[in-house]
Amino acid sequence: MESLIVILLGLSIGSFANVLIYRIPKGESVVLPSSHCPKCEVNLKWWHNIPLLSWLLLKGRCGYCNSKISIQYPLIELLTAIIFLIIYLNIGFTIQAFLLAFTFTTLLALAVIDFYHKAVPDSLNLLALTLAVFYTLDVELIIHSFKNALLFGGAFAFLRFYVSFFTGREAMGEGDIMIAGTIGAILGLYTGVFAIFLSSILTIPAILFSKEREMPFIPFLALALWIVYIFEERVILMLNTLLFS
Ligand SMILES: [Zn+2]
Repeated sequence: MESLIVILLGLSIGSFANVLIYRIPKGESVVLPSSHCPKCEVNLKWWHNIPLLSWLLLKGRCGYCNSKISIQYPLIELLTAIIFLIIYLNIGFTIQAFLLAFTFTTLLALAVIDFYHKAVPDSLNLLALTLAVFYTLDVELIIHSFKNALLFGGAFAFLRFYVSFFTGREAMGEGDIMIAGTIGAILGLYTGVFAIFLSSILTIPAILFSKEREMPFIPFLALALWIVYIFEERVILMLNTLLFS
């Protein structure tokens, strides 16, 4: 029963993530107007707006004008539900789990926005960082996470200066610095550094196959954070073996 509640909650938060992804870069309100078809702009009825289900029942088309609705909408809803389910299985049915899952959902939205716009809104980025520090609701852990966030943000800012200086072009966006802080807050020093390293490994195939000059980095940072978060124990074991044996 709990898992079902978590999945339904994840689907509806995922639906909200779609609103964030679509509206924030355009500077629109995320509350009003209510959901409408991006093509014909007719307001959607509630049954057009059920996460996942409506898209499947309407076969990926608008109920009014029949224009295609991107598969991205149900995909984001599904991914968010998976995020919520995995974090619930990891830490239980708690407010902390909800806040952490919401943090990862914000990161998913940031990754998609960065992918399309090569820039992310500060509002969402600050939200992710703040949630990442405060989600534990435990004062000692909050101070610990805050220190790690400062450390990672600082290190990334310095790195950005060095790389820009030596390559002669602006490396990494300012937004990446805040994501690094978020990684530090959630993972801490040991696995956090590995997540940053992993993110740069993940970019290699993208760099090889992409013809675009400007590469969004947040999708890779967010994906690496998620992978290391899920496999944290195994990553620690691997790092211990590599470094100390
Ligand atoms: Zn329509």
